Amino acid sequence: MRRYSAFAIAREAFRYHSGWARAWRSPEPKKSYDVVIVGAGGHGLATAYYLGKNHGITNVAIIEKGWLGGGNTGRNTTIIRSNYLQDESAAIYEKARGLYETLSQDLNYNVMFSPRGVMMLAQTEHEVRGYKRTEHANRLQGVTTEYITPARVKQLVPIIELKGPRYPVLGALWQPRGGTARHDAVAWGYARACSDMGMDIIQQCEVTGISQKGGQVTGVQTTKGDVACKKLGIVVAGHSGVLAEMAGFRLPIESVSLQAMVTEPIKPCMDVVVMANTVHGYMSQSDKGEMVIGGGADGFNNYTQRGSFHHIEETVRALIETFPIISRLKMLRQWGGIVDMTGDRSPILGKTPLENCFINCGWGTGGFKSIPGSGWAMAATMASGEPDGLAAGFALDRFREGRFIDESVAAGVAH
Ligand SMILES: Cc1cc2nc3c(=O)[nH]c(=O)nc-3n(C[C@H](O)[C@H](O)[C@H](O)COP(=O)(O)OP(=O)(O)OC[C@H]3O[C@@H](n4cnc5c(N)ncnc54)[C@H](O)[C@@H]3O)c2cc1C
Repeated sequence: MRRYSAFAIAREAFRYHSGWARAWRSPEPKKSYDVVIVGAGGHGLATAYYLGKNHGITNVAIIEKGWLGGGNTGRNTTIIRSNYLQDESAAIYEKARGLYETLSQDLNYNVMFSPRGVMMLAQTEHEVRGYKRTEHANRLQGVTTEYITPARVKQLVPIIELKGPRYPVLGALWQPRGGTARHDAVAWGYARACSDMGMDIIQQCEVTGISQKGGQVTGVQTTKGDVACKKLGIVVAGHSGVLAEMAGFRLPIESVSLQAMVTEPIKPCMDVVVMANTVHGYMSQSDKGEMVIGGGADGFNNYTQRGSFHHIEETVRALIETFPIISRLKMLRQWGGIVDMTGDRSPILGKTPLENCFINCGWGTGGFKSIPGSGWAMAATMASGEPDGLAAGFALDRFREGRFIDESVAAGVAH
């Protein structure tokens, strides 16, 4: 792989950009691989990348029914933070946030990580208590957060209305090194690095069945033929239940559509990410100037990747209380992605009832931020066959044993 650099851009400028190679190959599937990963979203690609980089396993295929990054990875509002309440969550999300800090250099691909700071507004007394508790927990976990006053909120976000009609801003939980990254670039950067290690990314190829013998997976059936493998990783977010059914086990997961929208671009007016969980909405400004707005999830299970009118109305109506400035903006686009929700709002990462089959799902509304940490932990788990330290708490059997990792406050509304 030719490295991207300032020198390479200058050289290509002189030859009309004719020398760039394709970022990744598009091969046909081989008959067999050491590892097959189903799903070329961020988590699947990151798993493959760290399998190669950390464990030297490169005979890997990543099989994707659509185009890589076309699932939730390319549909989210890109918020990155690690201020979760429970120790297991803080550990994996902070690992991921730390990896994001140097991901562009690691992948030699600009993922546009922007640690501009993430603020979670406290707009009820209950939230004030909740976020102060999280701040204390974060201090013990080594995650840098701070509970800030309304005056500091106004200083950081001049366009905010502190005395909203229903919910005044009473303070906020502030993570200064949280932020955003370009979501497609995260998928593309991992894909390019995987392809460079010799891994096959097979797009437009749906897995339609999982072949087994004696409690072990032997391969997958796909729309491009059968592919054998020694280990299988299922990393398909909203379709996890479908793949689990193919493998013959059940997951405690519900799939719902989560929606987002962007406004027309305007001049820079907000350089942090703000989440307002009580009024139910969150917002950041993209580098192009669009206000990126996250809304709610549908209240019923479905597999539609579309937006719906009532979500625009609900979300915008709520956000206008806190950001009156957006009332005059035109909405440009709206979309949805199928998120995989567990009852305790924490992921499932690790072994399945089939010996050589592993699963990584349940990131729900907030798994973009965790992509590097999740890939790191999933790769270690798949390589050794046993849960990695970061993954241990997130095993599927916690639902049978009642060891929930309850993040419904930290992850309930938004991201
Ligand atoms: C609107 C919205 C906003 C969000 N905002 C944020 C945010 O601000 N911050 C944050 O941290 N998280 C956010 N999220 C959540 C985040 O996007 C997801 O948790 C994360 O992207 C999941 O990544 P993934 O790789 O597991 O899944 P995906 O990116 O969905 O990848 C799974 C892939 O599996 C493929 N697949 C499915 N079935 C098959 C099959 N049978 N064969 C082959 N391939 C298959 C799919 O086509 C898909 O490409 C948001 C999500 C949405 C929808």
